[in-house]
Amino acid sequence: MSSNSDKKRLKREQFVEENGLIFLDNVTKSYQTGAPALNGVTLRIDKGEFVFIVGDSGSGKSTLIKLLLRELTATSGNVYVMGYNVSKLRHRNIPMFRRNLGVVFQDFRLLKDRNVYENVAFAQRIIEKSAGEIRRNVPSILATVGLAGKYKAKPKQLSGGEQQRVALARALVNKPAILLADEPTGNLDPGNSWEIMKLLEQINENGTTVVVVTHNREIVNAMEKRVIAMKKGVIVSDEEKGYYVDED
Ligand code: ADP
Ligand code: MG
Repeated sequence: MSSNSDKKRLKREQFVEENGLIFLDNVTKSYQTGAPALNGVTLRIDKGEFVFIVGDSGSGKSTLIKLLLRELTATSGNVYVMGYNVSKLRHRNIPMFRRNLGVVFQDFRLLKDRNVYENVAFAQRIIEKSAGEIRRNVPSILATVGLAGKYKAKPKQLSGGEQQRVALARALVNKPAILLADEPTGNLDPGNSWEIMKLLEQINENGTTVVVVTHNREIVNAMEKRVIAMKKGVIVSDEEKGYYVDED
């Protein structure tokens, strides 16, 4: 590795020490029409945290997640993830940046014509893992999410809870530093919702920073994690061991 890239890495590590693994500095995001989706949001999330983001539909939660992924860029202010100023990333560096992030969504987003094993292996192929590593890593992560016996099933042969576990395995197989989950239990029954949340907690205990957008009041109240509540594009509360804040 060149000393120049070593220096950049050290600078990012130092930035993370001082400002957090995720740092939004007075971030506003406006779409073409309407009030800003995020309006002057400042937020720090440290390495190793487990954070819930709650709030009414339309309060800006998904916009926040998309800014972290660099699916969107801020209208003003700065978004830093792992010491990268995300808006300033060059296009050619975005794929490399995203390797640090695992993502799951409410609607699973699996490849419908591929089986469970292939859905997870695909994520490893994108980052050019060797065949040998793929053969080791995919079974290991499928066992972690409790799908060891389901390699050959296609998504439509699985329950919603199983499909979300495949999506979680796919998000985790490349060992991201941060897992972002946007309403991961939105399509699941209470039993499966709990299983997914327990997996997220376990992943966090193994060192991954986890950010979960959710409407699941019961789970948020039971888990006693940090809870950030949003309303109309601003953070209205941010509590350690918090509870679900009422949507007036
Ligand atoms: P949440 O995830 O909390 O439901 P969103 O971040 O999706 O909220 O949306 C925040 C606000 O931004 C809403 O008013 C929504 O209508 C608006 N919005 C979201 N995406 C777009 C878009 N692509 N174009 C225009 N407005 C959008
Ligand atoms: Mg949303």
